[in-house]
Amino acid sequence: MRVRILGSAAGGAFPQWNCACPNCGAVRSRTFHGKARMQTQIAISADPATWFLLGASPDLRSQIEATPELQPQASAAAADPSRPPRERSAQKNETASSPARQSPIAGAVLLNADIDHVLGLLLLRELQPLRVHATESIRRILSEDNSMFAMLQRVPDQLTWSCFNPRVAFPLLDASGKDSGIRCRALSLGTHFPAYVSAERRSQFAAGEASLGLMIESPSHKRLAYMPAVPEISEDLVREFDSADVLMFDGTFWSDDELIRTQGSGQTARQMGHVPVSSPQGSLSRLAQLRRPRKIYIHINNTNPMLNEAGREYREVRDAGWELAEDGCHYEL
Ligand SMILES: [Zn+2]
Repeated sequence: MRVRILGSAAGGAFPQWNCACPNCGAVRSRTFHGKARMQTQIAISADPATWFLLGASPDLRSQIEATPELQPQASAAAADPSRPPRERSAQKNETASSPARQSPIAGAVLLNADIDHVLGLLLLRELQPLRVHATESIRRILSEDNSMFAMLQRVPDQLTWSCFNPRVAFPLLDASGKDSGIRCRALSLGTHFPAYVSAERRSQFAAGEASLGLMIESPSHKRLAYMPAVPEISEDLVREFDSADVLMFDGTFWSDDELIRTQGSGQTARQMGHVPVSSPQGSLSRLAQLRRPRKIYIHINNTNPMLNEAGREYREVRDAGWELAEDGCHYEL
């Protein structure tokens, strides 16, 4: 299984458009020791012609253009010069499988309904057949409450929903229903739906479907634990992580009060559903006992001081055996 990191920042990316924190300011003045990052996006594949997205980031268009494996290949029919041009060119209003529209992106798995995790789906509206794996709650929030998502269901077979329940393993299927050989199992991590979901609407959904992590098993039985938003680390979670070959873990905030200190108000990291990296109960300390997985921080907020590769926080994380995800990194599992 191939795993590609297309983006590794938290919502807002790095630098963030309205942020003048020390990190964002240093990137803009070209004095920063580290890398800019797009919003978190992973793509996985067990076969070069079929890729699945984990979430769908607002930066998806740029991320696809930066990743040749995710770009469309002209089909034999579309490239055949003996065919009349009408047959060769894609028509805007036909069914969802036009010959020149050949993206290897077969679908996505959604772990929450946050804007920075689902907005990219709207960028995939150009009639590509897709299958989206999600919980029933997330499907209903997007397709019943957000009318723009109707653009993904304009023609037959454009977007097919496959609903899953937390803790129950499911196969990743392409749009036609073909099994990729990749197996997933979602873990309930947070109980907060996004703020745009009304309190009345929230009461209609299962809280355990609000925010998930994903255990992914390759056809060769290698495991990736993908955990971009973890509010607290239980002993059960630690056991799950120690069964993985690679752990991609919530690196959003270094400290619990980071955003409050940066912007003068707001919520703590834990209130936002993210255990901080530092402090005795933070992830660096709580996950120090893990022996098996390669450990990678992902979903890193622009305010996080560990982004500065000249700083003590970066050194502390690297000395503890962790890596920081970077856009363009890839792994074989
Ligand atoms: Zn910033």
